[in-house]
Amino acid sequence: MVVGNGMVGARFAEEVRRRDPEAARVHLTVLGAEPRPAYNRVLLSTVLAGGLSPRSVQLHPTGWAAAQRIDLRIGTTVTGIDARRRRVHLDGGGVEPYDELVLATGSRAWLPPVPGLADPTVTAFRDLADCERILAAVRPGVRFAVLGGGLLGCEAARGLAARGVAVTLVHPESHLMERQLEPDAGAVLAATMRRLGIDVRLATAVACWERDVGLRCADGSIVAADALVVATGVRPETGLAEAAGLTTDRGVVVDDRLATSAEHVSAIGDCARHPGSVSGLVQPGWEQAAVLADRLAAADPTARYLGTPAVTRLKARDVDLATVGDPADLIDDDNEVLRFTDTAGGRYAAVALRGDRLVGGAMIGLPQAAAAMVQFYDAGIPAPTDRLRLLLGRALPPEHRDQTDPELSLGQTIICRCNSVTKDGVIDAVAHGCTTVAALSRVTRAGTGCGGCLERLTAMLTWAVGTDPIGEPAAGGDTSRNGRYEVTEQNPAHQTDALAPAGPH
Ligand SMILES: Cc1cc2nc3c(=O)[nH]c(=O)nc-3n(C[C@H](O)[C@H](O)[C@H](O)COP(=O)(O)OP(=O)(O)OC[C@H]3O[C@@H](n4cnc5c(N)ncnc54)[C@H](O)[C@@H]3O)c2cc1C
Repeated sequence: MVVGNGMVGARFAEEVRRRDPEAARVHLTVLGAEPRPAYNRVLLSTVLAGGLSPRSVQLHPTGWAAAQRIDLRIGTTVTGIDARRRRVHLDGGGVEPYDELVLATGSRAWLPPVPGLADPTVTAFRDLADCERILAAVRPGVRFAVLGGGLLGCEAARGLAARGVAVTLVHPESHLMERQLEPDAGAVLAATMRRLGIDVRLATAVACWERDVGLRCADGSIVAADALVVATGVRPETGLAEAAGLTTDRGVVVDDRLATSAEHVSAIGDCARHPGSVSGLVQPGWEQAAVLADRLAAADPTARYLGTPAVTRLKARDVDLATVGDPADLIDDDNEVLRFTDTAGGRYAAVALRGDRLVGGAMIGLPQAAAAMVQFYDAGIPAPTDRLRLLLGRALPPEHRDQTDPELSLGQTIICRCNSVTKDGVIDAVAHGCTTVAALSRVTRAGTGCGGCLERLTAMLTWAVGTDPIGEPAAGGDTSRNGRYEVTEQNPAHQTDALAPAGPH
């Protein structure tokens, strides 16, 4: 039984059915509070910006769950867990037994205690219903305020500005994205956002929201606006777990088996806290879903989740921003830190090195250097003695230099980060007859996350279909194409090297 039909709960159900397609071993029930089938939450920023329709982000075609023999109950909220008796309580009074329970309850938007936020002109930015409400308010002449200058607030502000409405981004901290960026980088981002027509107000505490007025700030000023989007952070949804007595600590605590402190209860995705990953990104959740499906549906007691390196990208048109690792590494005195700031030119680069390894970094307006930074981080490539080359994106050793070239890149190069799909994974899928992006996505799932890899995926597919890259068996491994495919695609999180691939997204 799965609680939560979000990106990770739905993926877990898929993974189970990949391992048990005839439903011979696993009876699957998925309970989801949202009144609609699962959809791609990551793409909501693109929906807001007008790049996709709300309907197009649904994860599965209508009727998919029934065809997969999944007892999917949407609009059903679990209100309590009785871990001792192995059953859950539902809103409406029902009680359902389980053998194994998987918590995939995700995160919820956190709203600050500011008066006026319950007004209908105020919307959080977490789910499709929020997105539809925001879009319903977009019309000529409307003025939006976005409260919160973190990743989602910046994406929301840029998306709304792209629709041609006036946007003021109000952030209580002194620089944007302070969880990922240092002050200098935040200043470059703010300058870039301003150049794109967004009015950015920093270090601005808000007193209240007043309909027909706007945001009243603590210093007495007013941000005139007709609608407010609140993007002030998320919190892992741990209420059910806490009430059931499970160990929580900014998430439901899980071990490498993704088991919680209660027997027969596991947790994955945003709601789970594993020491090797950060909450709030889809890649760790999808890797966890595959590992847990191996343990529960393929009866593989050795299945372990070992963590996922953190790579973040801002999905905002004309703003190229990527970060790797922990931002604290950029201010750690024990690290060697290199910086370059060009506020007027909208460019910023910073990397933190421990010994000769890149452990953290941020890049704005430097796509090539950002791609190289991700490769250094992912693959643990030793940094060159000429450090300046790192900031210029010219430091990759020859064997890693051509990672954007479909032919010359290494087999371990990541093509789709959300789904941990490598070049080798694409080649194997082509060997199985995938000759279109749609077929490739169906089999490997590449391109089904944030969609940022579609161009590279198409280039890789074009090359792989036009050549015969698997004419020779893979050296030192299972030489059957089928065998290789099983390893690279189905169990990515099991492979230590699958967790440290090279290549940008
Ligand atoms: C606008 C936006 C942009 C994003 N962009 C990116 C990005 O570029 N890259 C990236 O990696 N991540 C991004 N994320 C984060 C990503 O969407 C999440 O990491 C991912 O959705 C986590 O999946 P999940 O299934 O754990 O949680 P969710 O997708 O939040 O799903 C949890 C589900 O559980 C349901 N639920 C909760 N409690 C109960 C209950 N008691 N009973 C029944 N159902 C319940 C909820 O209603 C929800 O449907 C973005 C998020 C947003 C909002």
